[in-house]
Amino acid sequence: MLKGKVALVTGSTSGIGLGIARSLAEAGADIILNGFGDATEIDNAKRAMESEFGVKARYNGADMTQPDAIAAMISAAEEMGGVDILVNNAGIQHTAPMEEFPPSKWDAIIAINLSSVFHAARAVLPPMRKKGWGRIINTASAHGLVASPEKSAYVAAKHGVIGLTKVIALETAGSGITCNAICPGWVRTPLVEKQIEKISEEEGISIDEAAGRLLGAKQPSKAFATPEQIGAFAVFLSGAAADQITGASLPIDGGWTAQ
Ligand code: NAD
Repeated sequence: MLKGKVALVTGSTSGIGLGIARSLAEAGADIILNGFGDATEIDNAKRAMESEFGVKARYNGADMTQPDAIAAMISAAEEMGGVDILVNNAGIQHTAPMEEFPPSKWDAIIAINLSSVFHAARAVLPPMRKKGWGRIINTASAHGLVASPEKSAYVAAKHGVIGLTKVIALETAGSGITCNAICPGWVRTPLVEKQIEKISEEEGISIDEAAGRLLGAKQPSKAFATPEQIGAFAVFLSGAAADQITGASLPIDGGWTAQ
C-alpha cells in the first residue's frame, strides 16, 4: 500500500514511534528511524524491518531540540527520494507542580514536543508540495485535548501540537498533503513506565497495582493502547481512504477524553 513512499518517524528508537515505524514498513514504506539509544539495538531494529518487510531502513540521530539538525536530516532524506510521510513523534515528559517545575524542563519539553514539529513540517512542506502528495502525522496526546495536574509543559506542548496541526491542515488543504494529530491515552512505553514507578514508590504499592491505578484514574477501558494499534492508525491515515481527513485530532484513548 505504501510501496515507493519514504517515512521519517522521529523518536522511533522506542515505544510508540518504533511501533509506527514497523507498521509503516509492514505496509511497504522505506523508513528513516530517529531517536536516541543503544547503537546495536537501533541497528537490530533497522535490520528487522529490512528482513521482515523487504523495505529500506536508515537511521538519523538528529537531536530534535536542534533546528539545524532537523533540517539536515530532512535534506539527507532526498537521497532516498525525499520524505513523503513525516511522523512527528519524539517526546519527553516531566511531572511536577507548577511552583516546582524546573524552567530547563519546560524549555526541553517545548523544544522536543512542540517546536520540533514546526521545524520538521516547515522543512518537508516544499518537497511535498512539489510532489503534490504528503502526510504529516503528529503524535499529540489525550493531553492535547484535556489537562492533568503536574504536566504543565507537556499539556501546553500537546495543545500546541493540535493547534499547529490545524494550521498546517488549512495551509495545505487541496494540495494532496494532509496533516493530522493522533491522541493516544496511556500506552505502556518507557515514558509511562517512569510514571508507574513513581506511583509505586509514592504509594508503597506494587508495579502492577500502580499500573492499575494509573489506568483507573483516566482510561475507562482500563487497558493500555499499544504501539501496534497506533501504528495501524498511522498506516490508515497514510492511505487513500484518509485523503479527506485533515486537521483532525483523533483519540485512541479507551474513552479518556469522552468523559
Ligand atoms: P518513549 O520514551 O518510549 O520514546 C520517545 C522517543 O523519543 C525515543 O525514541 C527517544 O529516543 C526519542 N527522543 C527523546 N528526546 C529526543 C530528542 N531530543 N531528539 C530525538 N529523539 C528524541 O516514549 P513514547 O511513550 O513512545 O512517546 C512517543 C510519543 O508519544 C511522545 O510524543 C509522547 O508524548 C507521545 N504519547 C505517549 C503516550 C504514552 O502513554 N506512552 C500517550 C500519549 C502520547
